[in-house]
Amino acid sequence: MTGSTRTGQWYRDADDVHSWFDSGSRALDFMYSGSVLEASRAAVPTALSDWLSEHWGAQVAPAQERDIEDAIRLRSAIFRLAQAASAHREFDGSDIDVINLYAAVPDIPPRLTGGTLRAGRSIQTVAHVLASIAREAVELLGPGNANRVKKCSADDCDMIYLDTSRASNRRWCSMQRCGNREKVRAHRARHTGLRAHHTEPRTHITNLAPRPGPAPTAPSPAPTTPSPPEPNPTRPTPGSRNLSAPR
Ligand SMILES: [Zn+2]
Repeated sequence: MTGSTRTGQWYRDADDVHSWFDSGSRALDFMYSGSVLEASRAAVPTALSDWLSEHWGAQVAPAQERDIEDAIRLRSAIFRLAQAASAHREFDGSDIDVINLYAAVPDIPPRLTGGTLRAGRSIQTVAHVLASIAREAVELLGPGNANRVKKCSADDCDMIYLDTSRASNRRWCSMQRCGNREKVRAHRARHTGLRAHHTEPRTHITNLAPRPGPAPTAPSPAPTTPSPPEPNPTRPTPGSRNLSAPR
């Protein structure tokens, strides 16, 4: 078959750090297409077509104004439904209607490579690609993926992804970003905890030292256990700025 089915894209966070975010779904990739649609609307009319061409492995005709409006409408509906799915909330019926509406349009036809004739059009319209995206959204948000549409486990990250891992145990939007930040936090916590542990025996020794006076005094209070270290307040600022949530 022709066409790309790969998922994922590079993004840049607020600290200008580039990371690879594989959402696990091309419908979610589209949801996180960031400023592409806004750029198409304003000064870069080919931005949407270029993005779709790159991510769907098909040549896509330049987007018209109506296409961009349709793309924004579809993306917003996917966004709200994906948020609801990740929070196990009920779906809004009007958002479902939008997905179904676009999914009912003819999509990019599948094709085997190696033939001698070209069947169908060689350049896809934006409407065809949006139909393909809507159909993938139907799959993404359907019962087959219940509990696999997840929000990143980092407290300060709202990225949503489809967990395609066999054990359904993916926790982070990106290991390069939130996964590593969590590793650093855990390492720092362990390290600080270890230092605190080393100081603990001295506390015991102090308490067990002979006290002046003839009679043993009342037992002194037990040494307090060191509190767990606080996370470093200078942790990196959460990113995903250029993967702006659709409005
Ligand atoms: Zn994250």
